[in-house]
Amino acid sequence: MQVEYRVDLRPHHTFGLPVHAAAWVELTDAARLPEILALPEYDPATVLWLGGGSNVLFGGDYAGLVVHLAHKGIAAEARADGRVAVTAQAGEIWHDFVQHTVAQGWYGLENLSLIPGTVGAAPVQNIGAYGVEVGEYIASVYCFDVDTQQFVTLDAAACRFAYRDSLFKQEGRGRYVICAVTFVLDTVFAPRLAYGDVAAVAAEIAAGRAIGAADVAAAVCRIRQSKLPDPKVLGNAGSFFKNPVVDAETAAALLAQHPTLPHYPQADGRVKLAAGWLIDQCGLKGFAVGGAAVHDKQALVLVNRDHASAADVRALAQTVQARVAEGFGVALEPEPVWLAC
Ligand SMILES: Cc1cc2nc3c(=O)[nH]c(=O)nc-3n(C[C@H](O)[C@H](O)[C@H](O)COP(=O)(O)OP(=O)(O)OC[C@H]3O[C@@H](n4cnc5c(N)ncnc54)[C@H](O)[C@@H]3O)c2cc1C
Repeated sequence: MQVEYRVDLRPHHTFGLPVHAAAWVELTDAARLPEILALPEYDPATVLWLGGGSNVLFGGDYAGLVVHLAHKGIAAEARADGRVAVTAQAGEIWHDFVQHTVAQGWYGLENLSLIPGTVGAAPVQNIGAYGVEVGEYIASVYCFDVDTQQFVTLDAAACRFAYRDSLFKQEGRGRYVICAVTFVLDTVFAPRLAYGDVAAVAAEIAAGRAIGAADVAAAVCRIRQSKLPDPKVLGNAGSFFKNPVVDAETAAALLAQHPTLPHYPQADGRVKLAAGWLIDQCGLKGFAVGGAAVHDKQALVLVNRDHASAADVRALAQTVQARVAEGFGVALEPEPVWLAC
C-alpha cells in the first residue's frame, strides 16, 4: 500500500481550496482496509475517509492521513418480489451509478441524478433532491468497523436515516467506513414528479411519449445545471447550509411577518424553511469575503470566486449565519463537514 506525502488536495475536493494532506493513500480494494490501520501514518483521531470531496471543507492543511475510497464494482440480484437488489462499491461515482441503474431498467434513484460524489458517501448525509432521499432505497450498508476491526452489515433501520443525516454523520462518524451499499430498486417505473419543475421539464423532454425514468433523470440534470454552479468551473460544496427546521410557533410568527417565506410542514409538526430565501432577504447574494462569495444567482451556495482561502470561507459563512440570525432569529447550520486538522 503506497503512502504519498504532502498531497495537493485541490483536485480532491470541489471547493478547490489551496490545502495539502500530510499523507494520502488510495484504496482500490475494500478487503485491504485492515492494512490501513496498520500503517504508521494511521491515527483513528485524525484519519479522513474521503470520497469525491464534494461535502467537505478544509479549514487548512490536513495534518492527518487521507484515505481515498476508490474501489469500484456493481452487482445485481433479482428478488422474489420482482424488485432488484443492486450492490455498488463505495468508490463508484454517484451520478454514473444512477445513469447505470436507469439504463438497466432499475428505478428509484433518477431524481438524485447529478449529485456530485461517490456511492460510499451517499448514506452519510442521506443525500436527497427533488422529493427523494436515498435512504428510501437503501436496504443495507456494508462497513468496516474500525473499533472492532470487523466487516459488518447494517440494515436501513440501523443507519437511522433522517433529513441530511444518518448514523454515519453522528456517533458512527469515524467508526464505520462504508465499503458498499445495497439498494432495492423497482423494475416497474413509477415517476415521482411532485417536486418543483420536474414534471413540466420531463414532459417537455418526453415530447408526447409517456414519461420514462431517463426523461426524469434528464429533467433533473437540466434543472440542476440551470440552478447550480458547476464545481469544475466555480468551486463550491453545493448547498452550504441545511434548510432550518423550526417549531410550528416560530414558523407562524415568521410567516405573519414574512408571508412569502417558503415553508414546508414536516410530519412531526415542525416546519422546514428555505435557507436560501432567508439569506437572499438579507441582501447577501454576491456578498464576498476575500475570494469567497455568496453565489450571485443562488444564495444557498457559497463559491470560491477568486482563489479563496479556508479563512475566507469560514469568515463568509459566519457572516451569513450572523445576518440571518439577526434578521430572522433563525440559526443556520452548515451542511458540509468542516475539517480542522
Ligand atoms: C454542486 C453540488 C451540488 C450538491 N447537491 C446535493 C444535493 O442535491 N443533495 C445532497 O444531499 N447533497 C448534495 N451535495 C453534497 C454532496 O454531493 C453529497 O453530500 C455527496 O454524497 C458527497 O459525496 P462525496 O463522495 O463527495 O463525499 P466527501 O465529500 O468525500 O465526504 C463527505 C463526508 O462523508 C464521509 N465519507 C465519504 N465517503 C465515506 C465512506 N465510504 N465511508 C464513510 N464515510 C465516508 C467523509 O469522511 C466526509 O465526512 C452537492 C454538492 C455539490 C458540490
